Amino acid sequence: MPSHNLGQIKLGDLDIFGYSVAGEETVIAIPQLDICFDVGKAPEQIIPINNILLSHGHIDHCSGFAYYLSHRKFCGITTGTILAPAPLMAGMQKVLDGWAILDGNAIPVNMVGMKGGDEYEVRHGLFARAFYTQHVRGSLGYTMVEKRKKLKAEYLSLSGQEIIKLKQDGMKIDYVLEMPLVSYFGDTEPGAFMADESVVNSKVIITECTFFYDDHIDRARAGRHMHINDLAPLLENLKCEHIIITHITQRIGVNDMRYILRKKVSKETCEKIIILNQSTFEPVCAKNKQQ
Ligand SMILES: [Zn+2]
Ligand SMILES: [Zn+2]
Repeated sequence: MPSHNLGQIKLGDLDIFGYSVAGEETVIAIPQLDICFDVGKAPEQIIPINNILLSHGHIDHCSGFAYYLSHRKFCGITTGTILAPAPLMAGMQKVLDGWAILDGNAIPVNMVGMKGGDEYEVRHGLFARAFYTQHVRGSLGYTMVEKRKKLKAEYLSLSGQEIIKLKQDGMKIDYVLEMPLVSYFGDTEPGAFMADESVVNSKVIITECTFFYDDHIDRARAGRHMHINDLAPLLENLKCEHIIITHITQRIGVNDMRYILRKKVSKETCEKIIILNQSTFEPVCAKNKQQ
């Protein structure tokens, strides 16, 4: 019996599992990419995933990281990898050391400190690229980028022998094709990262939008979160196929949220939006559905 109810949705080739409520817990796993954006309270289902990508140190996003690592050891799974903003490294190690004292067992970890622009190869050809967000010091979002080597167009008609010869002569005959798959913003207010080429071209965008009511604008600014009034026009610039909205405050009901979203974004964008409300993924306005 899993410890949590996680929502599940299939978008193209990707299965996305998650739970998200502002201030309570956010955890979003994509098993095919072997990654989990933030760890929440470490639900059972994410323990086998090898890489956790932490956006920042707020407890609703990272409280389960020690349990995740320790439980992998308990289950005989290899040491987990945690990518996290570099300024968090020392504090995270202290937490692990504290748990080691309480538990009586050391907790193994492969910790990778990340800064904006850093890349980490999760597996051959699949990279997590970090970008700075605007929430707390060092806070990060991540784009998962697939990279493939491709032969340059001018060499496509050559035979295998000719290509080998060119390679032996030291010619650079290929280039790297980058395919941004998913971008995750963590907690943030709007920022320059939303215009990054790999973010704009990601197939799936996972963005927070904590607040929706007009009288919650001050709350959004104070906590450095997204308000739909700020986010809505920016969504129009993204070339993605799907937008998942997470980290929604419990201060709004689903029907109000749908109503506001439909008013604030274009029909084309609205059809891309899926809200993750606790453990439920719900499209906001399905294609061909009466609005
Ligand atoms: Zn949060
Ligand atoms: Zn936060």
